[in-house]
Formats: sequence, C-alpha cells, structure tokens
Amino acid sequence: MRNDTDVLIVGAGHAGAACAIALRHGKFDGRILVVGAEPDLPYERPPLSKEYLAGDKPFERLLIRPEAFWTERDVHFQLGVTVASVDAAAHCVTTESGAVIGYRHLVWATGGAPRRLGCEGHHLAGVHTVRTRADADRMMAELPEVSRVVVIGGGYIGLEAAAVLAKFGKTVVVLETLDRVLARVAGEPLSRFLEAEHRAHGVDVRLGDTVDCILGEDRVTGVRLADGQVLEAQMVIVGIGIIPAVEPLIAAGAEGGNGVAVDSHCRTSLPDVFAVGDCARHANRYADGAQVRLESVQNANDQAAVAAKAILGQPADYDATPWFWSNQYDIKLQTVGLSIGYDQTVVRGDSASRSFSLVYLKAGRVIALDCVNAVKDYVQGRKLVEAGARVDAARLADAATPLKDLALEVLG
Ligand code: FAD
Repeated sequence: MRNDTDVLIVGAGHAGAACAIALRHGKFDGRILVVGAEPDLPYERPPLSKEYLAGDKPFERLLIRPEAFWTERDVHFQLGVTVASVDAAAHCVTTESGAVIGYRHLVWATGGAPRRLGCEGHHLAGVHTVRTRADADRMMAELPEVSRVVVIGGGYIGLEAAAVLAKFGKTVVVLETLDRVLARVAGEPLSRFLEAEHRAHGVDVRLGDTVDCILGEDRVTGVRLADGQVLEAQMVIVGIGIIPAVEPLIAAGAEGGNGVAVDSHCRTSLPDVFAVGDCARHANRYADGAQVRLESVQNANDQAAVAAKAILGQPADYDATPWFWSNQYDIKLQTVGLSIGYDQTVVRGDSASRSFSLVYLKAGRVIALDCVNAVKDYVQGRKLVEAGARVDAARLADAATPLKDLALEVLG
C-alpha cells in the first residue's frame, strides 16, 4: 500500500526537523511525512561529542522537540526507515524494504556518513565514529573497560571527544596527519592555542603522523603508525569527516559532486526536489559565491527554512550568516563568517589570557572571527563580517576598543 504525502522529508535530523517546523509555522496545511534511518525522533547532534558523551545531558534533553509537539502539528514520522531510491519523474521514493512513497515536494535532508579508515583493522570492535546516538552509546558502554584511546583526526569532533575522555582520566593520543589541528578550518594561532590546551590537559597531540593500520584480533589493541611506532589503545575514535549521503539522488539524475547541488532556494536540478543541511552544496555569499557544503546547525536550520519558504510559494534566497561553536574543556569557541580564502589574520587580545579572538581578513575586509571565551567579540563582530567591513588591522588587534565601536566608525 502506498503512503503518499504532500511533503516528504528524507532524514530526521536537524535540517529535516527544521523544515517540518518551518512549514507548519508558515501555515502549510498539507500532509508532512518525515522518513528517517535512525530509530529516534530528531535530536541535537552536537552534544554527542560534548555533554552527552560526558554524561552531563540525558538523551531526552537532546530531542529537538518533544513527541507531543510533532503530534500536535500533525507531522508524521517513519523512523528506522531508509530511502533507497528516488524516481523524480514519477514523484516517488522507494525504501530499502520496497515500500513506495509518493510526494508533491521532496526535501532531501540526509546529512552524511562518517568517513571510514581505509586501512587494515578499520572494522575491529572498539573502532568508533561519532555521528549518531547509537555511535555515542556504543562508545560510552565500552568506556569503563578502556584506559587508552587514540583519536584519529584533529578536527572539531576528534578534539571535543579527546577533551571529554581526558577529563574522564583516560590516556588520550590525538593523531593529525597535517602539521596542526583544525588546519582546514582555522588559522594557525587558534590551532596552536588548542594544541597547547589539549597538551596541558595531558592529551598527547601528534602532528604529521599517519596511520598504517589498526592492530587487534577481534578488538582493537593498538594503532601502528606509518613510521612503525605502535600506540597501545583499547579504543580508537575516527573523526576524519563525512561523506554526504546523496547516492539515491545522484542516481536519480541530480547534479552533484561533494553533495548535491542546490540553487539559492535549495532546489536541486530535479523537479520539486530540495536538498538542505550537510548534504547540500550551494553558492555561499560568505565564500564569495563559491560552492560550499557547510556542516553546521546554523546551515541546517537556515537552509531548511529557505526550502520551506519555496514550498510555501514565498521563495527567498539563502543568505544567512554562517556561525558555529565548539566546546572543549572550559573553552567556548564561537565562529562567525567563513574564513575560506583569508590572506591575513589578526589576534585580538592575548591567547595566554584564554580569552581572545582571531579575525580573518581577505583583501583588507573582515570575513570571519573565531572567538575563544570572547562572547562580546562574537556578538559585536558579526556586523563587521556581514558588511565585509574594511578595518585597519592595528585597530582590530586592540582589544581595548570594542568591536561595536569599530563597526560604528566604519559602517556608521
Ligand atoms: P543530520 O543531522 O546528520 O541528519 C540526517 C539524518 O538523515 C540522519 O538521521 C540520517 O540517519 C538520515 N538519513 C541519511 N540517509 C537517509 C536515507 N537514505 N533515508 C532516510 N534517512 C536517512 N554543528 C555545529 O554547528 N556546532 C557543533 O558544535 C557541532 N558539533 C557536532 C558534533 C558531532 C559529534 C556531530 C556528528 C556533528 C556536529 N555538528 C555541529 C554538525 C551538525 O550536527 C550537523 O551540521 C547537522 O546535524 C546537520 O543536519 P542535517 O539534518 O543536515 O544532518
């Protein structure tokens, strides 16, 4: 039997939930069905490597909305169900179990799957990725038996997990192939600051090291590096990025490559098919119009709202200011803008005080800020980023001058 719907949202994560919320908020009165591969109602993913992993927040508090919210708004869910293929001409999808669901509008909000290691031993028990509640639960169940952990990848997720495990008293090694942590997303002063913080908490941060293989029979016992060194470990956490979950859409003929391509209304090249969140590649004005795929709650929520508007017949361009956060130990990092293509950085304040900001400039214009325990800079710097303001580097470096004063000076 077919279970047709007006709007079919594939993926019950941040973007899928936000799209359903925005549709009902915009008075959409058609049927909304959300199909999600995970068994849970939409929940917040960021705490999985932070408060949830630390045991500070129970799962119920991660839910994006309580069950009653969805019932009251007549949003239907099919959970534990994976969509396997899309027939865009026929306006229907088929699930892995062969059920066919017809739609008027399809919103693809599938995020991505963690990139796996390609080396020997990558499948052993005790080797984890952190993307879902189930991933975090599996790790947490093993932790009491674990004293040594190797984290592969010095990106946000790896560093956050390392911070939690170090606080638990585990012996933690972070392996990063490049010569600094967060090399792809942050400027060197921030990388060096975080590296030092982790070291101060006892984490062995190793840079420029590559993994040869994971050792063990059934369970991981260690990691062998390319130079032959062996690091003992009962747990390995792999945080080396995601692969956007877009195969069914691409197989259906959607334009893509590093995700699925969308226009400023989050429409794919297929009729009545939208894509939002981590899986959607789009031209972003904060990247000078370059095609990017953003992996952030901000982007998931804001793109979802844009797709909902288009479905409601009130199209609006995606133009949201990018922002992001990360918590490690007592460090609250907040980012605004995109630092892609920066040619100058300015440190505002003193990193030794553990409260400073890194300002990114491109051709003399402010394009992004990374603020470390510096909420005022984060809030006040937003205007400079949004305007692409030209500000003298020396003035930016002077932490005694609030950014709101600089914004007033240069923007009026
Ligand atoms: P997701 O939330 O991943 O949801 C996609 C859903 O679609 C998943 O449930 C998936 O199972 C499902 N799905 C996939 N394929 C199919 C299919 N074929 N059929 C049905 N369902 C399918 N962002 C921040 O801004 N700040 C942070 O501090 C931060 N920390 C993070 C920490 C961790 C551990 C992780 C994993 C992510 C973090 N992020 C953070 C990123 C943020 O969580 C993502 O950007 C956000 O979840 C993207 O939302 P989404 O809806 O696109 O994808």
